[in-house]
Amino acid sequence: MSEASVHAGEAARIVGVHPLAGFDKLLHYKVPAHLCEDLQVGALVRVPVGPRLALGIIGEESSPVDFPVERLKSVVQIIHPFPALPADLLKLAKWMSSYYAAPLESIIETMIPGPVRSGLGIKEEKLLSVATLLDDEALAKLATRAPQQARLYGFISTQIKPVPKALALSRLKVTAAIVAQLVKKGILRETAQRVERIAYGDDLAESAHISSTPPTLTAEQAVVVSDLALRLGKQDFDVSLLHGVTGSGKTEVYLRAIDIALKQGGGVIFLVPEIALTPQTVARLRTRLGAIAPGHQCVVWHHHLSEGERLDGWLALAKGEARVVVGARSAIFAPVRDLRLIVVDEEHEPAYKQDETPRYHGRDVAVMRAKYCGAMCLLGSATPSLESYANALAGRYGLLQLTKRIDNCRLPDIEIVDMRIEVAKQRGLTTLSRKLVDAMHARFERREQTILFINRRGYSSAMQCRKCGHTEECPHCSITMTYHRSDETLRCHLCGHQRGAPSRCPACGSPEIKWRGLGTQRVEEAVRRVLPKARIERMDADTMSKRHRFRELLGEFRTGKIDILVGTQMIGKGLDFPNVTLVGLIDADISMHVPDFRANERTFQLLVQVAGRAGRGDRAGEVVVQTFTPQSEAVQFSRHADFLGFSQHELTLRKQFGYPPYRHLIHHLFRGTNPEKLAFVSDQWAKLVEKALGDRVELRGPSACPIEKIKDEYRWQLWYFCGSVTKIIPELVRLRDAFPWPEGVSQVIDVDPSNLA
Ligand code: ADP
Ligand code: ZN
Ligand code: ZN
Repeated sequence: MSEASVHAGEAARIVGVHPLAGFDKLLHYKVPAHLCEDLQVGALVRVPVGPRLALGIIGEESSPVDFPVERLKSVVQIIHPFPALPADLLKLAKWMSSYYAAPLESIIETMIPGPVRSGLGIKEEKLLSVATLLDDEALAKLATRAPQQARLYGFISTQIKPVPKALALSRLKVTAAIVAQLVKKGILRETAQRVERIAYGDDLAESAHISSTPPTLTAEQAVVVSDLALRLGKQDFDVSLLHGVTGSGKTEVYLRAIDIALKQGGGVIFLVPEIALTPQTVARLRTRLGAIAPGHQCVVWHHHLSEGERLDGWLALAKGEARVVVGARSAIFAPVRDLRLIVVDEEHEPAYKQDETPRYHGRDVAVMRAKYCGAMCLLGSATPSLESYANALAGRYGLLQLTKRIDNCRLPDIEIVDMRIEVAKQRGLTTLSRKLVDAMHARFERREQTILFINRRGYSSAMQCRKCGHTEECPHCSITMTYHRSDETLRCHLCGHQRGAPSRCPACGSPEIKWRGLGTQRVEEAVRRVLPKARIERMDADTMSKRHRFRELLGEFRTGKIDILVGTQMIGKGLDFPNVTLVGLIDADISMHVPDFRANERTFQLLVQVAGRAGRGDRAGEVVVQTFTPQSEAVQFSRHADFLGFSQHELTLRKQFGYPPYRHLIHHLFRGTNPEKLAFVSDQWAKLVEKALGDRVELRGPSACPIEKIKDEYRWQLWYFCGSVTKIIPELVRLRDAFPWPEGVSQVIDVDPSNLA
């Protein structure tokens, strides 16, 4: 910096800042000379906005065109001396803001974790060690005059390493004043040390089963890996879809790609749909990465991290100390340096879509980030989303395939049980078919394990009076209450409302109550009846509320302490247990009969993924699927995991009806407590949009949502079908912001929604 520019307090440079202050506008500020050294585009700063201070991101170095520079206010603080939002992320934020119709501010807040924004300090830990050794006489004196001090000294002096102060205080139950006195006397020394809170210290119990030596690739894997090596070698933007059947060794392929990217000196983001539910995948990655890139720790990013861990993990990536991050959706915003590779595992999972503002899709954002960085995005799945698959078919994405399971293990065939026949045979509704019961018996006898899936927690989904037909609904939402037998309650799965389960019909008083629709509790009960000696555990959101129970249960299952595991699909993700030779899907229809054009796709994915959990060891697996609609395409194509057949069939339908991936869908939700007002307003709005955008977009609705009321609020919806989101959204947002929305009506736009029901 030249002498001339270093006048105290004088502005050396002018920057445009995106303040996080409730509006989207670039404001200009002077940067005082003493802060200039740390000035970087993308840096997080504190700036005055009106009477208060706000956080902001430096968007560019530029001067305002229509404002005198002398009157600009100054940047007050630069929070981190490196970009919190590197250029690619800032570009991505702007793209997301315009694509998802979300305020730039909400996106920046999503991208930069809370503790980073708050400028939380680096944590230091106080350590105690002995400064002056006391002889026996001195110690005896101390013991009589100040017994607490003597006790503390005694403890510290017997430790080999310095002792964390907090630990000493809690262990000996002494106060900080006691420590202070000893320090003052020069007997103890207090030092500070930076604490590493990065979550890779957290050891997963699963790691024990994992080898860190890479296996020899199968022929198919080798072909895929060399293709990936070529693509990565170009060091340019590329998206490839890895379609590999369950158990084909996709994770090994990811690891090899990561290895290449790291050797090129690049950074890596690895996304999983739900990190808490994929401990095996994460443990495998960590163990192997330790071997691939010693010294390059892998940051694990999940919502159980403490604020401090979050900050340290983020800092390690931003400074380039760590080059790999593994995490769920939001890890796509990690400040990884020289990003070369983004892996999106199980790319078809709806969990990648965020269902609150900003409503982004992690996979689609991953592709855009790769584009802005000139990096590779590798999407992987056994059942790719039709969006990604269509992109691959059209040549926009590369297509890589693994068609065989490791060791040529056969994919288990799915046996379909027609529950209509079963019900007729067994006179009345049955939970478990004969076929499934026999198969479970056989497994139990051979000491093999069974997993049963039922995609609904609780006991039954509805209580219905046999006499008057009354079903009990939540008073706040328009859905039936689910019966939980464990505590005899009816609960609403939408708003959480609960009440004691009635023993008589609330409408007519009849004691004849029928429970319709199966849940995990009812299945568990049925299994106990047919296999009283088996060890059975249930795994769903109700039993998994305790943080470590999930891992604990998986551990018990792995070591054979559990014979039969009953659970929702939450247990279906990424599990690999060689002794599981039977998988049962109790009710395939739950996911099929919902008002969502993706219902078939979801059902097919569920069936194939669930079946993929069977027969992973050297024993063949068996899969039994119970359904009342055995003729449906989703069920039929899943029998042989026929993704090609299914996708052809489904894509044809989608094309016919103009559904994604052939057009984009935008959902507009209107909410309010007054249903008439809501209907009226959404109608007025729709007319306006039709007039302004009718040539570019097809409107459907407005109409009441399938679930018309949630938490006492009524819901209406409007659908926009369009060829290009970016050609619609700016205009739509402009209209929306100018529209006179009345008091008591709120609305939200969801681009490419993933959950339609
Ligand atoms: P996918 O993710 O495609 O379902 P996985 O990556 O879980 O499949 O692999 C299935 C199993 O095969 C895992 O236990 C994995 O360790 C093992 N495996 C993967 N590649 C190889 C290989 N080349 N040689 C031996 N075992 C392998
Ligand atoms: Zn009744
Ligand atoms: Zn409710």
